[in-house]
Amino acid sequence: MTMPFPVNGGMTSFWRSQPDTLDNHRSTETLPESSNIVIIGAGYTGAATAYHCLEQGQSTGRKKPSIMILEARQACSGATGRNGGHLKPDVYNGINTLANDYDIDAAAEVAMFEMQNLQTVQSFVEKEEIECDLRVAHAIDVQLDDAHFAKLRGGLESLIIKGSEASKLVEMRAGEKAEAFSSVKGARGCFSYDAGRLWPYKLIIHLLKRAIASGANLQTYTPVLQVSDTPDKHGRWTVVTDRGSIRTKHVVYACNAYTPALAPEFQNHIIPVRGICSRIVVPNPSSNPLDSSYTLRFNNWDYDYLIPRPDGSIVVGGARSMYLREPANWYNVTDDSRLIDSAAHYFDGYMQRHFHGWENTGAYTDRVWTGIMGYTTDFLPHIGPVPGKPGQIVIAGFNGHGMPQIFLSALGVARMIEGAEYGDTGLPRLFEATLERLQNKENRILHGIPSTSDRGSSRL
Ligand SMILES: Cc1cc2nc3c(=O)[nH]c(=O)nc-3n(C[C@H](O)[C@H](O)[C@H](O)COP(=O)(O)OP(=O)(O)OC[C@H]3O[C@@H](n4cnc5c(N)ncnc54)[C@H](O)[C@@H]3O)c2cc1C
Repeated sequence: MTMPFPVNGGMTSFWRSQPDTLDNHRSTETLPESSNIVIIGAGYTGAATAYHCLEQGQSTGRKKPSIMILEARQACSGATGRNGGHLKPDVYNGINTLANDYDIDAAAEVAMFEMQNLQTVQSFVEKEEIECDLRVAHAIDVQLDDAHFAKLRGGLESLIIKGSEASKLVEMRAGEKAEAFSSVKGARGCFSYDAGRLWPYKLIIHLLKRAIASGANLQTYTPVLQVSDTPDKHGRWTVVTDRGSIRTKHVVYACNAYTPALAPEFQNHIIPVRGICSRIVVPNPSSNPLDSSYTLRFNNWDYDYLIPRPDGSIVVGGARSMYLREPANWYNVTDDSRLIDSAAHYFDGYMQRHFHGWENTGAYTDRVWTGIMGYTTDFLPHIGPVPGKPGQIVIAGFNGHGMPQIFLSALGVARMIEGAEYGDTGLPRLFEATLERLQNKENRILHGIPSTSDRGSSRL
């Protein structure tokens, strides 16, 4: 297996089309020899972890730790700078699978955690007056397949009966009511509840600025090549870059899809998975403008997601029907410098195809880009101490669903660095990076690849 490192020349997403001055930032000319904490990766996870570590220090009155953030490319140039901008808790879909595979309490904990993330991010953005276009409004999940709708409906009803509080927030509509409510052509059913949408890059740049203002040292274009296998006699790890090495007590792997290149424990457990996203521009506004964000589910493995933007454009991702059957297009792929060819034109005419009242808008694809997600073989993130390596913490593998999980996960990591046990951090028990999970050889990502006749797994 080749080691997953970020490639040079990632495509420019819409979100990164207006880079901030921090994009190529280096806080110091050279790297220090040591630092209390080294965070690898300056996406949402790295930025939020640095922010929380410094805030924690402030609130406990202890001396602020020294923090290095090492980023292989530009700030926020990984998945966070290329995603769909959808901050949408899952309160009935994947959660139902978790309830069946584990137990209802563990699943309900994840649903509630994601809801809390949304609320916490909303309060944070309002308090800090961050201009990142955050809007919290209805998200509508539209089902276009009767059998899949029936399955999800059964799952939701069962979650509610079993007492999942977050699932009770979902409103459901069937048949014609679903089509009228959602404006999606051919809708067979829909579920709706509150979710957020935002400009991810702007939120992350704000977090990085706050961290830097509190003393964090950000070094872009500084790929970490290696982390020592064993600590020195003082319990410090050596983090090696081509600009020098840093000794540290705490290494935080906030490098998502690329974690296995540095922490071999995660090989075959966190897999780089390429996704594709687009921005659609609308010259003649629709008579039926969208105020909700959407997921369009065509069956149990094929879905798209979209958010309307304040400038009238739409960001749409997905296109799975065009490439998922060919794993070489996306599985274990780190190349975000080019498109998935078979999906390059999928978004053309998308709004006209799927939405009533959009036929004459002239909506066209303005930009398409790819990005690399970190999928895990059990579809749960790995968070917490790296088994057998005291001082190393992983927070990675967000399965294309990090936006409603990362802010509070990073707070949990900051608490662990301060000495808290995993169980006292507020993190869902299922997210813990345990040895047991690393010993499990099952790969649900590969199980989920649809064949021509098979409908595959809904969690892919
Ligand atoms: C096309 C697409 C659409 C998506 N849409 C959504 C969505 O709408 N909603 C949602 O919730 N999620 C979505 N996601 C997933 C979401 O973007 C991720 O879950 C989230 O951004 C992960 O954040 P992160 O900081 O952990 O990873 P990243 O943002 O990938 O950050 C990791 C960083 O680590 C750096 N790095 C890696 N290796 C090294 C190294 N060796 N040395 C130094 N630095 C290194 C990388 O360059 C990168 O900047 C989408 C992802 C993609 C690709």
